[in-house]
Amino acid sequence: MQEGIIIKGIGGFYYVEIANGSIIECKARGKFRKENISPIVGDKVKIELLDNEHGVIVEINPRKNQLIRPVVANVEQAIVVFSLKNPDLSFTLLDKLLLFIEHHGVEAIICLNKADLDEANIFAKVKEIYERVGYKVIKTNGKTGEGIDTLKELLKNKISVFAGPSGVGKSTLFNKVQDKVKMETSEISKRIGRGRHTTRHAELIEIDKNTFIVDTPGFSSIDLSFLEPEELQYTFKEFSDYFGTCKFSSCIHDKEIGCSIKNAVTDGLISNERYNAYVEILKELKENRRTRK
Ligand code: GDP
Repeated sequence: MQEGIIIKGIGGFYYVEIANGSIIECKARGKFRKENISPIVGDKVKIELLDNEHGVIVEINPRKNQLIRPVVANVEQAIVVFSLKNPDLSFTLLDKLLLFIEHHGVEAIICLNKADLDEANIFAKVKEIYERVGYKVIKTNGKTGEGIDTLKELLKNKISVFAGPSGVGKSTLFNKVQDKVKMETSEISKRIGRGRHTTRHAELIEIDKNTFIVDTPGFSSIDLSFLEPEELQYTFKEFSDYFGTCKFSSCIHDKEIGCSIKNAVTDGLISNERYNAYVEILKELKENRRTRK
């Protein structure tokens, strides 16, 4: 028996990379169908070898998590790419994406791209805000390659996926950290080839020993329906220091008086940008609840 990871799946065949680096073409054992389980890319599996190139998947290890679009298991981190300009960075969108990613049990790293366009030094500001909250924040330039070594270092020994709005440079960075697979950037007709992206199955690209990136960006449609407005506060890590200290125990740190979170914002202990994003997302969650009813 051999252990491995599924890096690709096509038409009932699974391509499993085993410890010695060989890729074994496998079928799944019939019992999975009976149990209504199908192996997916990212699954850590046990296989029985039939010969040097063929095998059968006999066991799927429990998944740490599972993404729906693309369908992939066991992603450990998301490289959350935003551009410093063109398009401008939106704190609300960044915070929404961070909490959505973390909800899936995936760790987020903030990667600020298009360093060449950052005349106003937005990077320094964003870095200060998010490092204080506990995120890793890096700066890249998809044109010159600045920051790519740091990014590659962060990818090591993990399964990572790129995430972020369109036009920020995800495909460009994907192409910079490896040269096995080329993701289309908007310079090359990404818009024309739209159909291709939606129908393709995700693959893991091994960029270094034990280091994989998903070949399709993840978390592209953010669905926050799992979250009630009252729960949003728990997704903002820096708020936790103040829980239980507001005048009203039901305070959701919006329009209430005697709110410790708002006092912390006034005192500069919580950043305005994070708090404003909180209020924006809160408004959206309340609106969602109204329309659900
Ligand atoms: P995606 O939609 O997030 O995958 O973004 P793309 O990788 O397709 O990049 C969008 C556009 O930004 C393309 O025209 C890229 O050439 C350009 N781009 C990518 N990285 C940089 C960068 O660091 N600086 C500048 N100025 N442009 C970049």
